[in-house]
Amino acid sequence: MRVWVGIDDTDSRDGMCTTYLAKVLMEKIEKEGFSILGLPRLIRLNPNIPFKTRGNGAVSFLVESESLPELVEITNEVVLEHAELDDEDTDPGAVFIDANNDEILNTLYRFSMRVIRDVVSMDEALFLIGKYLIPHLKYKRGRGLIGALAAVGAECRDTTIELLAYRRKENFGRMREFNPDSFFLADIVTYPETFDTVDWGNDSVVSVPNSPDPVLFGIRGESVSAIMKAYELLETEEIDMYQIFVTNQATDMHLYSEDEVAGLLENRSYILGGKVVEEPSEIEGGHVFFTVSTRFGEIKCAAFEPTKQFRNVVRKLKKGDMVVVFGSYKDETINLEKMKIESLAKIYQELNPICPECGKRMESEGRKKGFRCKRCKTKAKEKIRVEIKRELETGYYEVPPCARRHLSKPLIRMENQTDCHVLR
Ligand code: ATP
Repeated sequence: MRVWVGIDDTDSRDGMCTTYLAKVLMEKIEKEGFSILGLPRLIRLNPNIPFKTRGNGAVSFLVESESLPELVEITNEVVLEHAELDDEDTDPGAVFIDANNDEILNTLYRFSMRVIRDVVSMDEALFLIGKYLIPHLKYKRGRGLIGALAAVGAECRDTTIELLAYRRKENFGRMREFNPDSFFLADIVTYPETFDTVDWGNDSVVSVPNSPDPVLFGIRGESVSAIMKAYELLETEEIDMYQIFVTNQATDMHLYSEDEVAGLLENRSYILGGKVVEEPSEIEGGHVFFTVSTRFGEIKCAAFEPTKQFRNVVRKLKKGDMVVVFGSYKDETINLEKMKIESLAKIYQELNPICPECGKRMESEGRKKGFRCKRCKTKAKEKIRVEIKRELETGYYEVPPCARRHLSKPLIRMENQTDCHVLR
């Protein structure tokens, strides 16, 4: 029998990671004589969920197993041994779903689309579990059941791959040891087949986390071969093990397009078109805000300080520019992940007229008295309107890799590259 295993919410801010626990679980399942089919899946869910630990990811994988009770028991053992159950915000959940049951999988597909983009309740997850009698494990509040069901149900048209390398246990919590140059070299050799390994503009390695979890680094890309090529070039502390996941990272799967919704809701993410009606202003800390008139009214947009050089583009926007903004809606503000400038408003400046004889600018004769060229004595009544050259081009702009959200699609992955201003 083929069974999908879904699992989520096993870590805390002090340690662990659901991908690591899933790796340990898969190894144990194989040791017990069952087979894991294909690659496991790391499904990123709504990035704005307040109770997430870090990246709001859940894992699912397919097992060929002759004994469901044994599979459930192995999972229970691994969760009890490795999950951060003492942390008050860790509420693990695991589900076991017959891979041949299309009715359940179709229902879970619709559920997963909402978990990736919307906010769902525990009741909805428990309703599905009750309706389809889904075998499951629920620890404490069991909130992880939401992510576990979504990880099984997700069907991703676009996918990327991530290799996650894990640290040896004795190194957990210690400073990570790695040679940054080797990550830059791996990027030179394999980009754009791998991406977001380093951030050249901000001189940082973005594929090595700072959190106390077991992950040493994660290499993201389009193919297993490219990722393995990058992996071979990396110089780091000793790796305990690694796992390649198929993911929905870097696909923009979290974004609702404006045609799909009747209005904006907090903690969801959107693609919205509109006209700039209030020009950018900056507050202390380097956060830049502007306002766009959209089909849902005037919406504030923000490029926060961590978005670094992306703010230089935002600062140049003027009233009348037509833009499409991409980002999460939080505190009535779109937190920008990307922006397309569709057209630039024409900006004019009023200047003194030019003398038709000598080509120099005329001087004012006094208020309402017109203008005169001192040398040629030519005269003119009014100022002239001159169009100012905009220091900005139309097209797509993005935040740099150091500010990228897991689900945000980097411009280098866009099909049409002609108007993309890629930040590498
Ligand atoms: P982990 O590595 O443990 O997965 P994480 O950053 O992914 O860490 P979790 O600890 O899993 O975060 O916490 C997120 C919790 O939110 C999970 O219990 C998950 O089931 C739940 N959740 C995820 N997406 C949604 C959603 N759209 N609506 C409601 N709950 C959600």
